[in-house]
Order: sequence, then C-alpha cells, then structure tokens
Amino acid sequence: MSPLRSLILLLLHISLLAGADDSQIPLAQTISIRQPHRVAIIGGGAAGTSAAYHLRKFANESSVDVRIDIALFEASARIGGRTTTVDVFDDDGLPAELGASIFVKANPILCNSSLDFGLDLKGFAEKNIRSDFEWGIWDGTKFVFKQNASESRWLGYWDVIKLIWKYGTSPIKVQRLTQAMIAQFLKMYQEPVFPFKVLQEAVEQAELMPFMPLTGQELMREKGVSERFANDIIQASTRVNYAQNLAQIHGLESLVCMATDGAMAVEGGNWQIFDQMAKRADVTIHRSSLVTTVMRDQDSDKYGVQVEGDHEENPKLQPEDFDTVILAAPYQFANISFTPLLPSPPERIDYVSLHVTLFTSPHSLSPAFFGLEDQSQVPSSVFTTLPLGLSGEHHDQHKFFSVSTLRTIPPGKHSDKPQHLYKIFSSQPLKARLLAELYGFPFFYQSDESSTEAGISTIDKEYISWYHEKVWHSYPYEIPRTTFADIKLAGDSSSPKGIWYTSGIESFISTMETSALMGRNVAKLIVEGLQNG
Ligand SMILES: Cc1cc2nc3c(=O)[nH]c(=O)nc-3n(C[C@H](O)[C@H](O)[C@H](O)COP(=O)(O)OP(=O)(O)OC[C@H]3O[C@@H](n4cnc5c(N)ncnc54)[C@H](O)[C@@H]3O)c2cc1C
Repeated sequence: MSPLRSLILLLLHISLLAGADDSQIPLAQTISIRQPHRVAIIGGGAAGTSAAYHLRKFANESSVDVRIDIALFEASARIGGRTTTVDVFDDDGLPAELGASIFVKANPILCNSSLDFGLDLKGFAEKNIRSDFEWGIWDGTKFVFKQNASESRWLGYWDVIKLIWKYGTSPIKVQRLTQAMIAQFLKMYQEPVFPFKVLQEAVEQAELMPFMPLTGQELMREKGVSERFANDIIQASTRVNYAQNLAQIHGLESLVCMATDGAMAVEGGNWQIFDQMAKRADVTIHRSSLVTTVMRDQDSDKYGVQVEGDHEENPKLQPEDFDTVILAAPYQFANISFTPLLPSPPERIDYVSLHVTLFTSPHSLSPAFFGLEDQSQVPSSVFTTLPLGLSGEHHDQHKFFSVSTLRTIPPGKHSDKPQHLYKIFSSQPLKARLLAELYGFPFFYQSDESSTEAGISTIDKEYISWYHEKVWHSYPYEIPRTTFADIKLAGDSSSPKGIWYTSGIESFISTMETSALMGRNVAKLIVEGLQNG
C-alpha cells in the first residue's frame, strides 16, 4: 500500500471512530442548526419587495452562513401596491401610471435597481405637447407662472430670468437648501446611520430633524424665501405631489417636493422594479392573499399567518410557522388581528383620500375655464396654488389639485380622432359638469340634484372616450412631527425574530424610495441579527 493511500485510510478510520463518539452533535440538532430562518412579508409594494430582495442579497453577501426562507403575501393579484398601471382603452400597449409615477436621481435604490434589472428608463417630459406652455400654475383667478414648452435653450434661459425677475434670489435659496437636504438624506443609506433601529434617531443623525417640527411655510420664512415664491411655486408642488398646502405639510416634505432633478419613470410602469425585486429574491409569492391573522405560538415562538379563505380542507392555505413577520403595509389599513395583541401598535395617522381620474378625450383644456381669450394657449398641464395670502385650510377650493396631459394617442386602433390622455388629482370624484367646463364641451344641465352630481360615467363617449377612476389612501397628511412608529412591533429589539414594520417611514417621507429604504433597513437588521447568532 502506498504511503498516501494508507494515510487516507487512517484519516477515514479516525473520522469514523469520531463519528461513533457520543460527544458529537446529534443528527437532529445538526438539522435544526441548518433550518432556514423563515420570514413572512405581508405586502408586495415597494417596502415588502425591497425587504425580500435585500434579505436575499444581504444573506448571500454574508460571510457567515445565513439561510432564509421568504414567503410574501399580497392581497391583490399584482405586485407593486400603490405603484401600478392601468391599460388605456384596455390595451396593454398603452399602460398609464395610476399611482406613483416618478422617482428622481436622488433615489439610489430605485435608480440602481432599475439599471441592474435592465429596465428602460424615460425622462418625465410629456409627449406631444400641444401648447406653447408645458405647464402653468393657476391660483384660481390667473396663471401665476407658465413654463415654456420649447426645448430652445434661449427659452430655457428666459424661464430662469423670469423666475429671478419675479422671485428674486428665492429660487436659488431653495435650490441650495434642497441640495443640502438631499446630501443629508443620503446619509441614511450608509454607516453609521444605516441600519437604524429607531427612525427618529436616524433622522437626528442625518441632521434632518430641524426640518420636521416646522410647516413648509414656517421653514421657508425662516430661510428668507419670499412668500410669493413659496406660495406660487413650492405650494403648487406640495399640492400636486401630496395634495397638501404649505401651511400644513412639514418642512422636509416641502423640500422633497422641490427635489425634482433627474425625474424619471420606468417605461411600461414603475411596478416592474418591485416585480423584479420579488422575483430575484427567490420568494414564495402568495398573490390574492389577504392576511387576516398573525398568531404567535408561545411554545415554539413561531408565527402563524392566516389568509382570507383559509380553511381546513385546503392544506395549502394552512397557517405556516414563521420566525419573523414583516408588516409592509400601513397597519391601520391592513386589518390584521394580532394574537397576542401588539404591545404598542402604530398610532392611527390621517391619510389623504386622493381621487385619481385617468381619461381620454379629443378635447383640449378650454381657455374660457381659465378666464383666457378664445385663441389663448392653455398650458398643457395645470398645477394649482392658492391666491397669495389665503390660508392653507382651503386645500380643495379649485375642485382639483392638478390636470396633467400625459400623451396623445394617434387615430387608428381605438378612435378615428387623436385622443389626449389626461390625469386629474382631486379630493372629490370629478363631476361631469366640471369636466364639461374644463374642456369646453356641452353639458346638458338640469336643475335637479342628480344632474349636478352626475359623474364622469354620464358623459357621452364623443367627449370622454375612455376613463378609469381610483380613490387611494395615497399618503399621510404630512403634518410636522418628530416621532414615528416603531420599526419593531413585537419581539426583542436585538433579535431578528418578531414582528417588524416598514410604514412608519411614510410620515417622515412618503415615496417609493423611502418605503424601499425601510424594507432594506429591516432586511439589514434581520440579517445582522442572524449573523450575530
Ligand atoms: C396617486 C399616487 C401618486 C404617487 N406619486 C408618487 C410618485 O410620483 N413618486 C413616489 O415616489 N411616490 C409616489 N406616491 C407614494 C408611493 O406610492 C408610496 O409611498 C409607496 O408606493 C408606498 O409603498 P409601500 O410598499 O410602503 O406601500 P404599498 O404600496 O401600499 O404596499 C402595501 C401592499 O400591501 C398589501 N396589503 C395591505 N394589507 C394587506 C394584508 N392584510 N394582506 C396582504 N397584503 C396586504 C397592499 O395590497 C399593497 O400591495 C404616490 C402614491 C399615490 C397613491
């Protein structure tokens, strides 16, 4: 026998002897160490899919063997949550954003993942603008600002000159303030701020807290921004982005509204980012699965997750045992019963009820509605503000927050006339009468109440050829605040086990990116907890 072969046999013999030794780890225990940590994510929007994606990513990158098994429960049939599209004319070649429509350069998770996933990004310029003005801001009596539609550099400079002439140095002050805020915000993605167990501590560390207890109006006054610029431009932005006035919304969110640099969207729909995140996280996705109950078993310290329609005959829908649950949807709307009760559930916060109406029409915005001469050009999109000096309580005095022209669909498949696709944000359902006035088509008004109350469905197809209405709990009323809902709702704060919560970040900033950031943050805390044993 060669010396090498005899050495191998000797080592094998020793290892077999060692295997017979009682002091070795029993087989059952070996298996239990290798059991993956089971995570249930409730909610397939930006937060839930980002949590799934980053759990997988951080676990794969870990130097320690971290095994995770992820199940994602989503109430609807689609992934994306408030990021979703509808098909105009039911044509899947014509998707239009019904919820979150843009993200910006200062959104690293969304920008990087769309590039990593090979999704096509588009700028946020409107297609087929038919007016000399791309957008205008209307205060109910007049346009206080109009932006030229031409791509001519001179007209671009002219817009800047107009801004400076009208508002002095205020635009520059706000731009600097916004850039400084973005730099501070980006600290929340990196050590030592990231990952964070308590949101208010992260906000403090990123030096963003001074913006939080003030309204946008107070912040702008404090920073020497003119009332006129704040009212005309910043408030138009807080109204179109959050359906809130500057006297209500907190200072930080008012600056977020001004951080529009490099606005973009995914061609075909932003939901694809979150769909890809879920797919790449190797999760078991339970679609159309509304979670009704989360129940902790005291003995095993595991959570059962029950979905609507669970019953004994269907073994697939039996409660499952999870070590960790992530609630990635606003607690107050998720309608989940927790057993035992959560020690300190998130407080109820007011959300905006936003009516979004998408529709097509061959008609253009009527100059008469805006008090303009017949042949005048109405800006392609109209944002609104209040007349200078009017209190912020009058948030819906114009009956809409914004009217956007999204694109023009050429004649052909769906109509023999060009059809313009519009999106209106309002606090109430749109009335037929308002639309008739806004677009200058006839409204056969009768003085009974049903006629005044008639909605978009009563309008002849000649005027409104297609429509889709949706009411969202779109975002919280972003009132000034310095505390936020807990990130860990149940379980030891240093343990990966227990119940985690992402939606508290919405009363700080409510965007796809910040929800995705909170999903990533929770994922990091869980993986770190598993690494530390
Ligand atoms: C009209 C509109 C315009 C917006 N515009 C923008 C924008 O331009 N840019 C931007 O960044 N943000 C925008 N936002 C805000 C943005 O959409 C949200 O901040 C973000 O998408 C929230 O993501 P989320 O994952 O936290 O919550 P959600 O997207 O609400 O996801 C939660 C998910 O949980 C599911 N769910 C809830 N309860 C249960 C349950 N019991 N069981 C199972 N599943 C459940 C829901 O079905 C949902 O899919 C807009 C929002 C709206 C409505």
